[in-house]
Amino acid sequence: MTHDNQTTLVPPSSSTPATLPTACRTGVVATRVNHSVPKKMADGDDLPLFNKVRNYTSASQVRATGLYPYFRTISSAQDTEVMMNGRMVLMLGSNSYLGLTNHPKIKAASMAAVAKYGSGCAGSRFLNGTLDLHIELEQRLAELVNKEAVLLYSTGFQVNLGVISAIVGKDEFILGDKSNHASLVEGCRLSLGEFLRFAHNDMAALEARLANIDHAVGKLIVVDGVFSMEGDIINLPEVCRLAQRYNAAVMVDDAHGIGVLGEKGAGTAPHFGLTSQVQLIMGTFSKSLASLGGFIASDAATIDFLKHNSRTLLFSASMSPASAAAVLAAVKIMTSEPQRIARLWQITDRLKKGLLSMGFDLGASQTPILPVYVRDMIQTFKFCKRLEEEGVFVNPVVSPGVPQGMELLRVSLMATHTEKQIDFALDKFQKVGRELGII
Ligand code: PMP
Repeated sequence: MTHDNQTTLVPPSSSTPATLPTACRTGVVATRVNHSVPKKMADGDDLPLFNKVRNYTSASQVRATGLYPYFRTISSAQDTEVMMNGRMVLMLGSNSYLGLTNHPKIKAASMAAVAKYGSGCAGSRFLNGTLDLHIELEQRLAELVNKEAVLLYSTGFQVNLGVISAIVGKDEFILGDKSNHASLVEGCRLSLGEFLRFAHNDMAALEARLANIDHAVGKLIVVDGVFSMEGDIINLPEVCRLAQRYNAAVMVDDAHGIGVLGEKGAGTAPHFGLTSQVQLIMGTFSKSLASLGGFIASDAATIDFLKHNSRTLLFSASMSPASAAAVLAAVKIMTSEPQRIARLWQITDRLKKGLLSMGFDLGASQTPILPVYVRDMIQTFKFCKRLEEEGVFVNPVVSPGVPQGMELLRVSLMATHTEKQIDFALDKFQKVGRELGII
């Protein structure tokens, strides 16, 4: 599996067009395709550094087929329907699981924060960028996930980079699930510790790794709570049992668990009743919490250590007032309106049952992230494009976001989707799925 940002190579003999990055999990992509006539560049035309740029053809190869599905432009709010190219399409590709990004109370809270605090903090939390608003939000989140303390970062990606690299030092170990999000992978690579991976949700593979490491050496097991592409949930009870047995700490990235799992949307660890056995709980505000930023929750001593040692916190400007105020308002709504979470699961059930009954393969999904497996890159792009023409937006996920041969359409639900919208989507999935011979 190639869930990191290492160069993805198109096998020289392969007839498959080059791979592309997914919107979510991965970063840089290059291919070994060598063009004898380099592309013309405005600057640095003959600098060797830019050979990789001149030789990069993956995106243009897909563009040439007319199926390129990335960077589609939306000109409205991120809601159940969005405006694209002058018409409304049904949004089934958003991470706004609770449907809060366009909520009037959240928008009003953001606007009030701009009026009171201005548009930015112009400095890091460490120096001039700590607002009373940040402290209030940290306290509120600590209550939500039932940990002693919380620290805010400006994005979830920065949390994973800055926490793992600060916590795991030289001669220590990190054990990561192979399907972990790219930001976890990058955090692990940045750390001076040794980074070992285990097969996705495979507890025997994790144990085999742990058993080979000295009991007295520092070890961190790092996992997603809900896996962002597959939509399955980590086997947290077994992860925690192994952690205790082998003297390891546990970190859960709950980007897709918060707002979805656990009482009041508190996430994966509370869902399993295992909060006290997960030393580090990470969350992001760019999904259910309708904003931008991220947090780490832990005991007070660990948070204090991070406040003075985590470089993505120390050397980056703090969350904007508008973003922080939006999260506070979103948490208030999430915890006082539990019917939203119930509704999210209800609507997920309707779509999931419908897709399964039509014969689509949804893999091991257990959440409002429904991967519709197509297992071919070009078919995936075609499926995505035809659905868009029919008025439905979904995200195509190809290598290296998923391994080659596991290509899928990532469908995700919002609590605010209506039955009518779901039935419309089911109609379109059936029509296009049959047309392309997928069902
Ligand atoms: N972890 C996971 C599992 C994610 O899906 C994401 C966002 N795609 C992140 C971390 C990064 O969060 P942010 O968008 O806040 O940088």
